[in-house]
Amino acid sequence: MMAAIVAAENGADVVILEHMDTIGKKILMTGNGKCNYTNRKQGIEWYYGDNPAFVLPVFEQFGFDKTIDFMRKLGIWPKEKNGYFYPASEQAASVLEVLWMELRRLNVKICCNIGIRKIIPEEDGFTFETKTETYRSRKCLIATGGKAAKKTGSDGSGFLYLEALGHHIIDVVPALVALQAEQSYFKDIAGIRADALVKLYVDGSVKTEEAGEVQLTDYGISGIPVFQLSRIAAKALLNGQKVTAGIDFARELTFHELEVVLKMRCRSGQKTAEEFLVGMYPKKLIPVLLSLAGIEPLTFADQIPDTKITALAEIIKEFPVTVTGTKKFDFAQTTAGGVDTAEIHNESLESKLVPGLYFAGEVIDVDGKCGGYNLQWAWSSGYVAGLHAAMALSGEETC
Ligand SMILES: Cc1cc2nc3c(=O)[nH]c(=O)nc-3n(C[C@H](O)[C@H](O)[C@H](O)COP(=O)(O)OP(=O)(O)OC[C@H]3O[C@@H](n4cnc5c(N)ncnc54)[C@H](O)[C@@H]3O)c2cc1C
Repeated sequence: MMAAIVAAENGADVVILEHMDTIGKKILMTGNGKCNYTNRKQGIEWYYGDNPAFVLPVFEQFGFDKTIDFMRKLGIWPKEKNGYFYPASEQAASVLEVLWMELRRLNVKICCNIGIRKIIPEEDGFTFETKTETYRSRKCLIATGGKAAKKTGSDGSGFLYLEALGHHIIDVVPALVALQAEQSYFKDIAGIRADALVKLYVDGSVKTEEAGEVQLTDYGISGIPVFQLSRIAAKALLNGQKVTAGIDFARELTFHELEVVLKMRCRSGQKTAEEFLVGMYPKKLIPVLLSLAGIEPLTFADQIPDTKITALAEIIKEFPVTVTGTKKFDFAQTTAGGVDTAEIHNESLESKLVPGLYFAGEVIDVDGKCGGYNLQWAWSSGYVAGLHAAMALSGEETC
């Protein structure tokens, strides 16, 4: 939608070919229905892909400030919460509606329910063969998204057209997604939400860590900190590496401080092992912590040997999770992988292999962290691809 608006603003006649019954469905799901459309904190560290620096020339042309101005011009009054931006209406539908209004104002033609069978590059443009008719254009811009949330239309079919056009697709995996765990104790602790630090290990080495509200579920772990590290886990699993995580349920204390606190608590008063942790950790978690530390729940706390208190502190600081997989694309917020950026000019987002072919959004091997970064990439890449496609057209006309 962004690319179409920018191309039309710059003089191009634009037609959107959409295979769903309408365009922009995913926007309605974003930010829990409120649309977190950008974030004040920007920089290469918020983006992933085989070459994260690829995003820099794109953001130089259309970054955070221009996004806020662009949205404001369309009618979206920004509301900031800790650097996260939402429309003041707190309704994702508002963002979709203003984009629609702009497309109508610019006379962009929107053709829905179009099943494209083949995209054929020709000397002076492209032919799109569909079930019912054939379309022609001088430039082609692919913004078909990835494979996340297929019901919104992003079913990965765009990758098939691009492979047929000779492009290499970096393996796609779900990202910003929950992780499945091997341990059966997750069934007993499902429903717990805890402020914790999650460390992710690949083949035994720490790769990254994230803090925040972790959700324990019957299949494993979820919540924003888990989403943030999920793409690294997904890529490692794809490569056949061993992925584990350690949850630190006492991130405000050092290991030694925790050990001291635990010893003090269990030595004071006539409590059982099960009782002395009440008030520190969620009730459902306590039996699992004790069992992993090898402590009988009904033992009197003052009789627990020091070695077992140390083992308990270790479990609380590094609760073990063996990651067996991610939840599927249907539950993911984005896609890691996509069109190889080595085959795309990063100033214009034009293909290096097929002149006149442009890309925008999640279809490219760029994915952002949770917090408005994926939509920022969609707006920025849409702007750049739409602008350069239109400029190339007007350049051809003046020749
Ligand atoms: C639940 C959820 C919440 C999210 N929340 C946020 C958030 O708050 N902030 C944020 O920054 N990001 C968020 N994201 C991610 C963000 O929505 C996406 O990264 C972004 O929408 C990608 O934009 P896109 O235009 O590349 O692809 P999409 O939005 O997926 O759009 C692709 C379009 O192409 C169409 N299409 C696909 N294949 C074909 C085909 N073969 N022929 C014709 N048309 C086709 C699709 O139907 C669709 O209309 C969220 C995602 C999900 C699933």
